[in-house]
Amino acid sequence: MDARAVKTGSLKSSSRGRMIPITTVKFGHEEEQLVLEVLRSGSIAQGPKVAQLEKRFAELFNVPHAIAVNNGTTALVAALQVLDLKPGDEVITSPFTFVATLNAILEAGATATFADIRDDDFNIDPQSVAERITDRTKVLLPVHLYGQMADMTPLAGLAATHDLRILEDAAQSHGATYDGRHAGSYGLGTFSLYATKNITTGEGGLITTDDAVLADRLRVLRNQGMRARYVYEMAGNNYRLTDLQAAIGIPQLERYESIVTARRRNADRLIEGLSDVPGIVVPRELEGRGHVWHQFTIRVTEEAGISRDTLVEELTARGIGSGIYYPKLVFDYDAYRTHPRVAISDVPVAARIVTEVVSLPVHTALSDSDLTEIISAVRTAAGA
Ligand SMILES: *Cc1c(COP(=O)(O)O)cnc(C)c1O
Repeated sequence: MDARAVKTGSLKSSSRGRMIPITTVKFGHEEEQLVLEVLRSGSIAQGPKVAQLEKRFAELFNVPHAIAVNNGTTALVAALQVLDLKPGDEVITSPFTFVATLNAILEAGATATFADIRDDDFNIDPQSVAERITDRTKVLLPVHLYGQMADMTPLAGLAATHDLRILEDAAQSHGATYDGRHAGSYGLGTFSLYATKNITTGEGGLITTDDAVLADRLRVLRNQGMRARYVYEMAGNNYRLTDLQAAIGIPQLERYESIVTARRRNADRLIEGLSDVPGIVVPRELEGRGHVWHQFTIRVTEEAGISRDTLVEELTARGIGSGIYYPKLVFDYDAYRTHPRVAISDVPVAARIVTEVVSLPVHTALSDSDLTEIISAVRTAAGA
């Protein structure tokens, strides 16, 4: 670190002083107090704070049941496990997602198949999903990428027609809505509380469901399959979250509305500042959807005055963090290309999108001048 910068206090928000990071974590006095309370109680494993986190999550996001687990990947695995999938059963998901979605399907013993995505919300296209449904399809697993939900009404229609379960990967979309309905309320939903997500406990996850029987099974499953002390009802696992982690998450739930408001304000500023740049497509909140702006992801198309990768370099040179989520389709790695339970299909829209996306900072620690800098850096780099 530059010692001079520290001494003169120029770490503030000058373009020279520091990097504007793509993600940050900000905790308050409330988190410190609650963590201390748990530490001093001497009971740090799963207990009353985990129960409180679950209760608040369910209330806030309008779902009957929320079950906390140790991370978002586990949440997906557990949700699939209680659906009793058999070998050969197929789960249709998005090829444009974090690897956890695919890993969870494989861990649960199912076969992963892929629908194409749309280029306006980056989520699976119901029309493509319809074409991929077979006799073996059991679950539709839409991923609500970047904070905006997938097109749920047609997906729910397909699920009803073909007798399929819906499992929403809402790892990035706590509190997002579709026609007023919350993410995680279409049957089974999973959320991540990892360090970069809108709400975080370092590591952590939650499963939501409207099905009391599944909720009960999930609670037993996460605790070694144990119904009562040494009474094992199923082959389970240890998927538990700790009270120490829950203590970090609870105050963020209480603040969540203001967290989303700040992200939305930042997104609006970026949209306003960038929407006229030729060849750059800014993200939009689609009609009827409540976007929670986990990421602000632009597309650098062929018409832009700069390539996506050069833009990233220029931003880095100007001290602006950015991220490519995700650089490849999830199955486009040796580990999966030859995997017997990964059914690769042609997904032309997704294949183009992976070459175009770049995410800009949208988090709550951005100042007005940070936003101005980000906008002017992108405009200058793109020759606008
Ligand atoms: C973060 C994430 C996960 C996994 O969550 P972890 O808590 O990191 O295990 C799953 N799916 C998506 C889309 C994610 O972004």
